[in-house]
Amino acid sequence: MNRLEAVIFDWAGTTLDFGSLAPVRAVTRLFANRSIPLSDADVRRDMGLFKKDHIRRILERPHVSAAWRNRHSRAPVDSDVDAMFREFTPLQMEILEEHAQLIAGVTGLAGRLRQRGLKLGATTGYTRPMLDVLLTQAAEQGYRPDLALCPDDVGGGRPYPWMCLRIALSFQLSSTAAAVKVGDTPSDIEEGLNAGMWSVGVAETGNQIGLSASDLAALPIDDRRRRLEGARESLRAAGAHYVVDSAPELDPVIEQIEGRLAAGERP
Ligand SMILES: [Mg+2]
Repeated sequence: MNRLEAVIFDWAGTTLDFGSLAPVRAVTRLFANRSIPLSDADVRRDMGLFKKDHIRRILERPHVSAAWRNRHSRAPVDSDVDAMFREFTPLQMEILEEHAQLIAGVTGLAGRLRQRGLKLGATTGYTRPMLDVLLTQAAEQGYRPDLALCPDDVGGGRPYPWMCLRIALSFQLSSTAAAVKVGDTPSDIEEGLNAGMWSVGVAETGNQIGLSASDLAALPIDDRRRRLEGARESLRAAGAHYVVDSAPELDPVIEQIEGRLAAGERP
């Protein structure tokens, strides 16, 4: 095998929503409604997980659970997670459409990948109704993956590889090693690795920096460079085979991976 057959992209922070802002706004508001203030770092740490798992993980953080006990005179329990997840869905749906702009260059990248004969898949931590909003918005801007799955479709989300494996099956890939998974969080990287795929991190446009394009551009150059290096390092530490600054810079990575495949290497 010396050719790749598919690329599987994450959504927020990878192909649209520069800075992955929509999920942070929704999760922050969800906890604020329970009088629990969260920092951006609290929200971003486990970004990429299925949203219900993400809410649970935040509640488990010691300072969050202490704040909860202070406020509600008891520890958070499973039924709180259920109730918060129900409340989260409409909150997220409201915010989603305002943050569905494609990252610059994504449509062009998709065209180039298709020209190479690659199929395009997509996975997410969002639910199906949320994913459907993104699919509609992305299609209007010219980006239409061949298959987009969410955790609801396969019984669970990242870091499990199930969405990627279902896509591999549906695309009839000759091997999971013929696919590249691209995403902006450590849980994206783990998902790709767990699926036996090449895993590529996206640093500048994603969750690990967590700023809009204009906020990032407004930073002093040293600060910007420091944050970018931090984001790259966090994705490498998660095991990424490659880290690029934004998805449209993927082409040379595709070339390199095909070279490694031809040499008999596997992810
Ligand atoms: Mg993302």
